[in-house]
Amino acid sequence: MIRAKNKRPNILLVYTGGTIGMVKNAETGALCPFDFENILSNIPEINMIDCTLHSYSFPCLLDSSNINPENWTQIASVIEEKYDQYDGFVVLHGTDTMAYTTSALSFMFSGLEKPVIFTGSQLPIGHLRTDAKENLITAIELASLTEADSMPVVREVCLYFQHELYRGNRSTKVNAEQFSAFASPNCPALAHSGVHLSINKELLRQPAMSEFALSTSLSSDVLLLHIYPGMNQEMIKYLLDYPKLKGVILLTYGAGNAPSNEDFIDLLKQKIDQDIPIVNITQCLKGTVSQGDYAVSEGLAKIGVISGRDMTKEAALTKMMYLLPRVKTVNEFRKMFEKDLRGEISAIIRE
Ligand code: ASP
Repeated sequence: MIRAKNKRPNILLVYTGGTIGMVKNAETGALCPFDFENILSNIPEINMIDCTLHSYSFPCLLDSSNINPENWTQIASVIEEKYDQYDGFVVLHGTDTMAYTTSALSFMFSGLEKPVIFTGSQLPIGHLRTDAKENLITAIELASLTEADSMPVVREVCLYFQHELYRGNRSTKVNAEQFSAFASPNCPALAHSGVHLSINKELLRQPAMSEFALSTSLSSDVLLLHIYPGMNQEMIKYLLDYPKLKGVILLTYGAGNAPSNEDFIDLLKQKIDQDIPIVNITQCLKGTVSQGDYAVSEGLAKIGVISGRDMTKEAALTKMMYLLPRVKTVNEFRKMFEKDLRGEISAIIRE
């Protein structure tokens, strides 16, 4: 167990929106984003945390279903701008797309040496049984933890929810109504909050080898294609023929299996021949793609579909968006995509 050191760390709390700060619209009963003061006034305990806390609220608060890559850039830019002034960052964000944002930011930042911890809640902070208080207080405590040499314990983009600290690019939303809304199916939690904060030290990212930098060029011309029985071939062709298409994430069955009919495989091959990378990610929550284990995935491997192994769909999609502007050919893309850039993929290659 590691304790925060005597020096009070400076933490910046960034509010983007989400259920945590929402209130009910009196007429419709629907939850809508509300102002930041609402959060702080509902949680006076925040002043007891051993850190100096400042806050920044986005002028236009968002339900995270409306978040897009431009908003990722805005959030990341606030952190970049204030990077030298603060020891850690806690970002309040809606749960619906939180795992996409944490995955995207993990790739957009390189050389990150400070904690960037996202959290939110399933019930608004003004609700009697809210989960917001514990999530927020512990996220701030985790962002404040330092080593004996005053360096931060956590040096990466994480997601804290319901007692677990997960790597941001390993997380996915799994529950729409339980407080434990997130899971990290292929990577254990980095920390657990119980009576003590226990840190899984060997899993944490090591000090970065490069200077901190933010890269904001992302490609949105990507398609996430969920395979299902009875999928209409003509419709798939129509989608894949979109003239600006730059990359495809194929969400396949089990260990990376998909229909093996010639028309479908030919369609995919045509795209790969046009230097449009296609990545294979499993629809299963846990486990890895292993192309070639079954005859129905051999064809995919043969035409050059790239195995996304045990990446989440959120990590695979945002990694693709991040890499596409940096490469010219499918081969260059493959080399970069297969590398572990930010802890998003397990080391053991089982193929
Ligand atoms: N729709 C909300 C959002 O993602 C849900 C939440 O915050 O839990 O902003």
